[in-house]
Amino acid sequence: MAFAIRRDVEVPGEERRYLPEAKAMRRAIAAARDGIGQGESPFGACIVLEGEVIGTAHNCVWGSTDITRHAEIVAISEACKRLSRIHLSGAVLYATCEPCPMCYAASHWADIERIVFGAEISDAARFGFRELSIPNLTMKELGGSGIEIIPGFLRDECLALFEEWAQRPDRKTY
Ligand SMILES: [Zn+2]
Repeated sequence: MAFAIRRDVEVPGEERRYLPEAKAMRRAIAAARDGIGQGESPFGACIVLEGEVIGTAHNCVWGSTDITRHAEIVAISEACKRLSRIHLSGAVLYATCEPCPMCYAASHWADIERIVFGAEISDAARFGFRELSIPNLTMKELGGSGIEIIPGFLRDECLALFEEWAQRPDRKTY
């Protein structure tokens, strides 16, 4: 899937800033929904580089019996394999929920430029996930990370994934 390449835009009265792409987040949301249908946890991710989707994934922890297979990690792995390189400089990671510290660190190692997320770590914790309660902004400050963080994008649509998942009798947290 290709999007029109959207570069930083001039906003009157503000500095140049990146406008997140709703199509990319909705792709992450669709991936999360696929995962929910397969008994996975309600998280999705989509990575965009220069207007092209280079990785999309849902959480795969249960199906793979691998606690590290969070959606963001799976999407980063897919993107790196696709491009045959370890760095995704200039890429934007869209995540339905604020990346956990493991996924934030993976984004750092992959040289992701921006993270756009919907729901927050505190929302995942509220639904029973045993989250390390370190917000991305704190990871950025303490770690000296240059990743730009754009929170709360399509938050209601991302939160709805937790509600859908909570209706399922087979739901499992970790
Ligand atoms: Zn994670």
